[in-house]
Amino acid sequence: MKNTLYTKLTDAWKDLNIAKTVLISAHIDPDGDSIGSSLGLLHLLRAQGISAQILQHHPIPKNLSFLPHDQALLSYDHPDIQEIISNTDAWCILDLNAPQRLGPNILPFFEHFSGTVFLFDHHVNPILKADHSHVIIESSSTCEIIARMAIESNIEINAQSAECLYTGIMTDTGGFRHSRTNADVMRLAATLIDAGADPVKIYDKVMNAQSLASMQLLGRALSNLTISHDGAVILMILRKEALLGYSSEDLEGFVNYTLTIEGAKIGGLITEWEDGTVKMSLRSKPTHEVRSIAESFGGGGHVQAAGARVRKGNLNEIVSTIQQLAKI
Ligand code: 5GP
Ligand code: MN
Repeated sequence: MKNTLYTKLTDAWKDLNIAKTVLISAHIDPDGDSIGSSLGLLHLLRAQGISAQILQHHPIPKNLSFLPHDQALLSYDHPDIQEIISNTDAWCILDLNAPQRLGPNILPFFEHFSGTVFLFDHHVNPILKADHSHVIIESSSTCEIIARMAIESNIEINAQSAECLYTGIMTDTGGFRHSRTNADVMRLAATLIDAGADPVKIYDKVMNAQSLASMQLLGRALSNLTISHDGAVILMILRKEALLGYSSEDLEGFVNYTLTIEGAKIGGLITEWEDGTVKMSLRSKPTHEVRSIAESFGGGGHVQAAGARVRKGNLNEIVSTIQQLAKI
């Protein structure tokens, strides 16, 4: 069956191909979808002879560094950064709907950019202004949007791009288990495997890469969960003393354990950092929602996976507000 959601992406690809130089940026605290879609698009563009580079706030996380990224990253403190950006024709923003999510090292450049802006995303309510906006909230991932743009445009997905795009689809669907997983997504995954993505290798590289220290922290967090609403709301709370020496990269996947407990409907990882920031990562079962909770703290995301960061937040107050806002 032809999926008409994606037909307009052929225009995006045509418009993008007018550019000679392209920058690609995705969200702060990168994940499989932000990195996979950035690199997946980069390899598609480079195959067309377009010069593409990624500009992002954080480096590539360790468990995603196997993805082909030779000469891909442009550093925001490159001595010629201003000139490079002024010579850039198009800037592709991926997997984010609010400019702040670019991070403080990228946002000022973006705000002064005078070239053409493309947005490819699957989050609701985009507040980022783009010349060409392709927000498809039905998509499993931004990687799916990029892959379908290539397929709709009859562009061959090279093996490097396929590996990156498969990775983001795998991670954003929680390993083909979350609610956006369907037959179309599985067929797309198969297409990417045919194009050169190795699903066994990718799973192993991405998922089996936790440090021992990170697993030990998970153990402590699991033995100290905060449970309310008769077990329907399960929060994993890590205070700054517990996080000394750790970064958010070490906590990848922790939040998912909260929903593996029988009876859990809403789960969350709430972390307090040395600089006073409190971050929350919220998840819910398909029968429930967490986006409105994240939004009430100035964040956002999807219905069943959302997050927010509160500068100078009071951890105890935030936890009790989350519990009050949880609709069980
Ligand atoms: P995670 O919990 O994995 O960090 O993020 C889950 C979802 O919520 C992602 O789709 C992400 O884009 C969104 N999200 C996480 N943190 C924030 C935030 O601070 N602001 C907004 N607008 N969205 C966020
Ligand atoms: Mn995503």
